[in-house]
Amino acid sequence: MRLKNKVAIVTGAASGIGKEIALVYAKEGAKVAIADLNLDQAKEAAEEIKSKGGDAMAVAMNVTNEEEVDNGVDEVAKHFGGVDVMVSNAGIQIISPVDQLAFSDWKKLIAIQLDGAFLTTRAALKHMYASGKGGSIIYMGSVHSKEASKLKAPYVTAKHGLIGLCKVVAKEGAAHNVRANVICPGFVRTPLVDKQIPEQAKELGITEEQVIKNVMLKDTVDGEFTTTDDVAQTALFFASFESNALTGQSLIVSHGWFME
Ligand code: NAD
Repeated sequence: MRLKNKVAIVTGAASGIGKEIALVYAKEGAKVAIADLNLDQAKEAAEEIKSKGGDAMAVAMNVTNEEEVDNGVDEVAKHFGGVDVMVSNAGIQIISPVDQLAFSDWKKLIAIQLDGAFLTTRAALKHMYASGKGGSIIYMGSVHSKEASKLKAPYVTAKHGLIGLCKVVAKEGAAHNVRANVICPGFVRTPLVDKQIPEQAKELGITEEQVIKNVMLKDTVDGEFTTTDDVAQTALFFASFESNALTGQSLIVSHGWFME
């Protein structure tokens, strides 16, 4: 087991990519906190892990709320005895051309992706520094941390921003044995993507099938979606890599959609 007795917090883990990371971490022996806006669904995910013999707890957390993040992370540290891994994964998508984008939507998305990443990082670092054991901070970026697409201005902006935060945390955290890295997935079939297929079709005046084939998967090497398990295995790799040799990096998992 690659994460035996490690404590991991995964935000946005009631659904999609975050949930799969929580399941994989638990299978590898971690005690996992499912931190999500949706407490009922977070509890279901925690129960699923427990029914498979893992250890998990659900925490109600809006990642944009300073008090909820600080209290939630402290609660997990108290319950499980520390924090070793923080996966800052919660996110949303908003589809709109820049000239029609509401300022409130811009601020909403930036807050969830960037304020959320800052607040969860700060709260986790407090415990990682104090324990003397260090830890691993993992940000859920995207191919959109490296590349732009039409209709996604706040998302592309925020995902690029995560790389900056990651590099600073990698430099500051090194003295405390804390590593920080970003995962950059291509398109993964989760509720976040299923919602935007018809929205993009409408904005671009094409069919949903054309959105999938000609927009989302057009530049992949094989026309395939990335899976939640592909991303979870990458998150496992970062969480279980225990030296500062691998820090401040961003790894693209996208069927070759974007290469660097
Ligand atoms: P999802 O919609 O399946 O899950 C997102 C989860 O985040 C939900 O459980 C939701 O309740 C939670 N959440 C939303 N706002 C929150 C908040 N303010 N506080 C706490 N929790 C909140 O989406 P997903 O596809 O699994 O996305 C997870 C992450 O992966 C996001 O950061 C997303 O940008 C990123 N990502 C997704 C894809 C993809 O194709 N699906 C690709 C690259 C990156």
